[in-house]
Amino acid sequence: CWSTDVSGSQNRPRESSHALRFSSLSRYSGAWDFYHPPSKMCNAEPQIVNPEPLVSLREVTKVYGHGDTAVRAVDRVNLLAYSGELVLILGPSGAGKTTLLSLIGGLLHPTSGSIHIAGTELTTLSSAALSRFRLRQLGFVFQFFQLLSALTARENVELVLRLGGYTFAQARQRAEELLVRFGLGH
Ligand code: ADP
Ligand code: MG
Repeated sequence: CWSTDVSGSQNRPRESSHALRFSSLSRYSGAWDFYHPPSKMCNAEPQIVNPEPLVSLREVTKVYGHGDTAVRAVDRVNLLAYSGELVLILGPSGAGKTTLLSLIGGLLHPTSGSIHIAGTELTTLSSAALSRFRLRQLGFVFQFFQLLSALTARENVELVLRLGGYTFAQARQRAEELLVRFGLGH
């Protein structure tokens, strides 16, 4: 864990009551914030494998809907996060946390701005390329949604590994390793 740059903007023409907005680095303002915990909260010493940011957001905005009912959920957000860093996003319900994570995760397209993840500009990818990127480059850990309830935990993990090109045997072994690693191997 080490510090990053966070900046954003404040003045928006129209916004929902709590929409994501900038506040200062590593200080919770009561609206929303990125929080970079002190290094003692990290399990391991940081290893600077790549000095380039792993996640880079520039002036990212997401507006849902149009006209009078438009909601500006994320407004010109800038964020840099580096490999090995732990970043928390804090804010009340409706602040735009889920929208921001969905944008970073390639599940939503921003209305404007650019999103680089591991050197790839997500906003220029086709839908198929974005699906491949999600399959190979990043993962969400969902607790409830997006899991297939008819499958066991191991089968849920295996399914994604099989889509990513693992053989059945490789997927089974890797799924078991991952579930144990994340304390879900019971
Ligand atoms: P949080 O995760 O911080 O609670 P959200 O990202 O879910 O915030 O929501 C931010 C704002 O965007 C809220 O005003 C919410 O009502 C609105 N919003 C979220 N998803 C949609 C959607 N699919 N369509 C329209 N408005 C939405
Ligand atoms: Mg949410």
